[in-house]
Amino acid sequence: MLPDKDGPGVGGGQSSPEGEDTSVSLFREYLRLKTVHPDPDYDAALRFLERMADELGLPIKKIEVCPGRVVLIMTWEGMNPTLKSILLNSHTDVVPVFQEHWKYDAFSAFKDAEGNIYARGTQDMKCVTIQYIQAVRRLKAEGRKLMRTVHLMFVPDEEVGGHKGMETFVKHPEFQKLNIGFALDEGLANPGEAFTVFYGERNPWWITVHCPGSPGHGSRFVENTAAEKLRHVMNCFLDFREKEKHRLNTSECFTLGDVTTGEYDHGQRRRGLQRYPTRNGCQLRPENTADSKSAVMQAPHSHLGDLQLNVNSTPTSKLLLSHQEFEKQIREWCREAGEDVTYEFAQKHMNQNVTSTEADDPWWSAFSGACKAMNITLEKEIFPAATDSRFIRAVGIPAIGFSPMNRTPILLHDHNEYLNEQVFLKGIGVFERLISTLASVPARPDEA
Ligand SMILES: [Zn+2]
Repeated sequence: MLPDKDGPGVGGGQSSPEGEDTSVSLFREYLRLKTVHPDPDYDAALRFLERMADELGLPIKKIEVCPGRVVLIMTWEGMNPTLKSILLNSHTDVVPVFQEHWKYDAFSAFKDAEGNIYARGTQDMKCVTIQYIQAVRRLKAEGRKLMRTVHLMFVPDEEVGGHKGMETFVKHPEFQKLNIGFALDEGLANPGEAFTVFYGERNPWWITVHCPGSPGHGSRFVENTAAEKLRHVMNCFLDFREKEKHRLNTSECFTLGDVTTGEYDHGQRRRGLQRYPTRNGCQLRPENTADSKSAVMQAPHSHLGDLQLNVNSTPTSKLLLSHQEFEKQIREWCREAGEDVTYEFAQKHMNQNVTSTEADDPWWSAFSGACKAMNITLEKEIFPAATDSRFIRAVGIPAIGFSPMNRTPILLHDHNEYLNEQVFLKGIGVFERLISTLASVPARPDEA
């Protein structure tokens, strides 16, 4: 065992939890629950959360939105419960791991000598779940009474699209009863000193392009092949992608969330990861084969080629083409490729809702003001992929994606996902301040 380099209560290592901050121990305990797809142990998460609610003295509600898919809500009632409430949302599920690529067991929550905790979910987003809980625990221990009601919501299935989680729950009468005015949900780490906040998301479009062609054999030159058509559509997408990449690289004000991306999937499909959006959340993948390389090799022999495109389009005004224009462009590419080339959408989100970050917005000014008071520099971005925030914004509730992790590489969905315990602990204090500030936003004219 290496000695604790940061003094008491910090180090410890995996076999010496003594002296560890209790919040860190709780975080590591939660990380060990295998809420991992494709068969998440949601019962274990529910038992853990019920225990937390018990410790905090908060009432809970459990709503089974779909069979086996339960949303759990803890409610800390405010002094004026008729006012709009604050939602602290987090999802309980995590994406699969490829253990052979990990330095440590992905569910052991191993902590190294630097205090880096390795586990699936350290960044996405079990850290935030525990930070919310511990922030509320501290506020309650200080005897604080907040004006607005605060709901802590724990949802399943975010990582598989939220269909049996948030997407369904936002239409449920129990969701409406929560009377939410403003929501916090997940964000991403920032490798620098600043913290990133997300006020909108790009829209996932999953498009399948069908390219029928003449049957043939690789030993002859066959006309009108599916491969030629596929190549045309692929080239058009890749040219477009190149233009967007150029825009990203040449203008400092653009971030990944401001551009539209599309990507070849280098074998993710074969590895069973295709349902889980990657960090940039975008793949361009030939549908009829295991990976892009073999598709190019095999397509000349096939008489029907399907190309699956996964595009994330941005909702900001920095968009090169509007959504309507972009779809028109896809139609045009297919027409050029051959008359019988068609396309269809497996997913098409047209949601262009963004949350106000104007100085006169009361929620944003409370959020950003609290950060300023803590000397936190914020970088505002459009989330490069999709989170449950899109469903919250779609029902008209402003939502900010914020996972307080600075000085941390972005490792969600990646091998060896980790978070340093000091960064984690600092985040509890950040939420403590944010929650009390947001719950103190004065009653607005449209509120009772
Ligand atoms: Zn997440």
